[in-house]
Amino acid sequence: MFLHRLTKHVALGAALFAAPFAGASTAQAQLKVVTSTTDLYDIAKAVGGDKITATHIGEGYQDPHFIEAKPSFVLQLRNADVWAFVGLDLEIGWMPLLLQGARNPKLQAGQPGYVDASRVISVLDVARANVDRSQGDVHPLGNPHYWLDPENGRRIAKLFQETFAKLDPKNASVYDANAKAFTQRLDAAERTWQADLAKIKGQPVVAWHTSWRYFAEYTGMNIVGFMEPKPGVPPSPAHLASLIQTMKQAGAKVIVMEPFYDKKTADFVASKTGARVLVLSPSVGGTKGLSDYIQLMTSGIQQLAAAL
Ligand SMILES: [Zn+2]
Repeated sequence: MFLHRLTKHVALGAALFAAPFAGASTAQAQLKVVTSTTDLYDIAKAVGGDKITATHIGEGYQDPHFIEAKPSFVLQLRNADVWAFVGLDLEIGWMPLLLQGARNPKLQAGQPGYVDASRVISVLDVARANVDRSQGDVHPLGNPHYWLDPENGRRIAKLFQETFAKLDPKNASVYDANAKAFTQRLDAAERTWQADLAKIKGQPVVAWHTSWRYFAEYTGMNIVGFMEPKPGVPPSPAHLASLIQTMKQAGAKVIVMEPFYDKKTADFVASKTGARVLVLSPSVGGTKGLSDYIQLMTSGIQQLAAAL
């Protein structure tokens, strides 16, 4: 009787003991990933699959330079295993404060969970790095909009694969297979873009912000001018007057702009030059239907080719 009760007691104790740990180990099996943008989020999800949980701070329809980071994000960062961000000062306005508030040793610079995706990128416009930030230039360390070149999408996927495998080695083969599958889907999409890319190559266009520089490097579209006199500085009448002349001389047919800029100003320039305004989202989730990275690239290329 005594033995029976003891056994029962031990069994009950073991069950009580095991239950919370079983729950915890399930939760721990998934890496907790927080990204600054939807584009990094989508690529992280593609590589991590069901082995990670992921959240993003910015929304695709927001200007990535001016994301409003709510204090509630501190809690997400406090519990995260990985913090992945675009870098090159894109998140400078809010990231230091959130990381400070999170006090998470896994997300300190130098730790594997601190993922500055720009370190695997060949950064454009770095020669401008000695510009004075007080003049309003928002790209003091070079151009941070690198995800709009699919080659950089592949590099980001590889970086996530290596990061996740390091932090969660038992699932390394899953991350490897997922990264390969992502690259294969991107390769397959790329093959469908070829006719549109041929149409775009060499065509003179104007872009609002230098966010389209990497896209232009990839597609071959020829950016003959920008609506902004400097990245982040709104167009002045004098700048627009000179831009209109440049567009007429170059025969630019399209003004590419993001949904969060002032379309009236672009319409004005279009009316003076006979160009069309093409509103393109630079990020996953920026407009309806852009639910993943490959769709984002496909849609941008198709829409631009159709507008030319
Ligand atoms: Zn920018």
